[in-house]
Amino acid sequence: MKKIWLTIAAILIILILFLGFSTGWFGGKGEKGPKMAVCPVCKMKVLVTETTPTYVFKGKTYYFMNEEHKNIFVEEPERFLK
Ligand SMILES: [Zn+2]
Repeated sequence: MKKIWLTIAAILIILILFLGFSTGWFGGKGEKGPKMAVCPVCKMKVLVTETTPTYVFKGKTYYFMNEEHKNIFVEEPERFLK
């Protein structure tokens, strides 16, 4: 009977590992790879990190190259959302 339990244990471990990887438990913070966004002010690609300036407008999060671009956007968001 020991072999059956070993097989079940092995299958469970494989399932847990598979689920873990596919749902992002490993590899940190539940994010898939480095997150990229486009700065709405200059249309340049921005790597999203903990220090990236963000602003939530109408339920959507925008990311900016720097605080300056964030301030430009915050003053007149509609101008950059066409
Ligand atoms: Zn920008």
